[in-house]
Amino acid sequence: MIIGVPKESYPGERRVALVPVVVPNLLKAGFEVILQAGAGSDAGFPDALYLEKGVRIVPERAAVFAQAEIVVQVLCYGSNDLTGKADLPLMRRGQALIGFLRPLGSVEVLQQIAQTGVTSFSVELMPRTTRAQSMDALSSMATICGYKAVLLAAVTLPKIFPMLTTAAGTITPARVFVIGAGVAGLQAIATARRLGAVVSAYDMRPAAKEQVQSLGGRFLELPIAAKDAQDARGYGTAQDENFYARQRELLTQVVAESDIVITTAVVPGKKAPVLVTAAMVQKMAPGSVIIDLAAERGGNCELSRAGQSVVEHDVRIIGGINLASEVPYHASQMYARNLTAFLLNLVKDGKLRLDANDEIVQETLLTRNGEIVNARVREFFSLPELVAQGAK
Ligand code: NAD
Repeated sequence: MIIGVPKESYPGERRVALVPVVVPNLLKAGFEVILQAGAGSDAGFPDALYLEKGVRIVPERAAVFAQAEIVVQVLCYGSNDLTGKADLPLMRRGQALIGFLRPLGSVEVLQQIAQTGVTSFSVELMPRTTRAQSMDALSSMATICGYKAVLLAAVTLPKIFPMLTTAAGTITPARVFVIGAGVAGLQAIATARRLGAVVSAYDMRPAAKEQVQSLGGRFLELPIAAKDAQDARGYGTAQDENFYARQRELLTQVVAESDIVITTAVVPGKKAPVLVTAAMVQKMAPGSVIIDLAAERGGNCELSRAGQSVVEHDVRIIGGINLASEVPYHASQMYARNLTAFLLNLVKDGKLRLDANDEIVQETLLTRNGEIVNARVREFFSLPELVAQGAK
């Protein structure tokens, strides 16, 4: 079975879906791997490294799609709304496609993908179970984003992070406040702590408290409780506007006292809640920095603009999108390991094993035979139930 790796086409995207180190595992399992020439070079993996591992290099993108039975990408059409559409005519019925597909994004786009007949698997839909942990690409990318957010903030802030006692006096440590202590938030806390900042964090899920504290962060407790703060998969849930208004009110002071605010509060399939208003930004000290990791999903800060760095009220607000692509070597390595674990589970004896009893297959399978077949996605878009749902 041939796995094809096209070059990522989203503007500025530097990651690649498979890196050379995972290739021997795939070959051992009976796969052949082909790569579009230059697909790994922006991530630090030139073609020669793939060749050494037994990968066949194919010059043309169309030829990768034509020859591969399974196409693996980072940003497939769906999550690549700028250039991804050009791949649609290259896909064919029965071919498998695995990658980020933004399954709760646009139903029209999903239908276009379905109509190619491709059997697509969305890594965003990976169940959060112990067995699927090694395949959890969202967590891998969130880890990278949390780390990078702190570095971006550190180089932007006109202060240093650690406390220093020098002959020229004492420097107080930077104060970093993280809103949303999921995977990205926790990595941001750990990274900021290593650089010497004083870190506090808040999340509406009470379970986050212990995790924040175990990383040396202070957990900010607010005198409000979210209703069913966490869903069955461990994700934060959407709250009503009253709750958000109260959150903003209670967060105002700590935001004002912070040098850096990193926001990561998102809810799957929903616009991110605004937790930092313009008035709150205005109360921050000049030179402070906000990194809004939710910018792509509407933003946690009222003033952030997706993909842009702006200054408002003397505060630098960075609406980072696709930050994982700025650490392409390790982001690709983690993603490639996630995909390899997924592929080894999906394919047995040279055949796609669409096992109806395997929740990893069931929950990630998005389109098949011209239809959106994923039950959760169909429900989200209020599509009628399929008579025979999911994989068989
Ligand atoms: P996420 O990226 O969906 O959201 C980031 C954080 O924002 C979450 O912690 C969420 O509670 C928080 N948030 C949302 N709305 C908020 C609001 N109004 N105010 C404050 N905070 C708000 O989350 P994630 O990174 O995917 O992680 C969510 C949880 O799932 C974490 O506890 C994580 O450790 C867990 N997790 C488990 C597994 C697994 O079991 N395999 C894998 C990954 C993550």
